[in-house]
Amino acid sequence: MAELILLSFNRAEFHRLHKLAMTGDEDAIQEIESIWDAYKEQSIECFICGNRTDHPPFSLMLPEPKSHAKIIAAPLCTRCRDLVPMQRWGRAFKMLGKMYQAKTGRQCHFNLMPRTR
Ligand SMILES: [Zn+2]
Repeated sequence: MAELILLSFNRAEFHRLHKLAMTGDEDAIQEIESIWDAYKEQSIECFICGNRTDHPPFSLMLPEPKSHAKIIAAPLCTRCRDLVPMQRWGRAFKMLGKMYQAKTGRQCHFNLMPRTR
């Protein structure tokens, strides 16, 4: 059985790493690429469609609804990764909203501000 696993990161720390990785910093690239290493033996469920993902899965970074200081890495299968971005975001946010609603019983809306590369 595949399992849904979400990884939580400190937002500032992750952005720092990501910036470094974009400049070609080997350590940063290595660190980002290895975030799913601990789950190598597990089959991971795609956050959007529930199918099993490849290893490592594509990471979709999402805001953590409860904390602005955190972000979530959600695993996606290759099919969902290849969706057009608006669809991918739309479905992912719908899932996140559902999860959050189930936890708190409150409605939750997300503002999406894509980062420019
Ligand atoms: Zn999928």
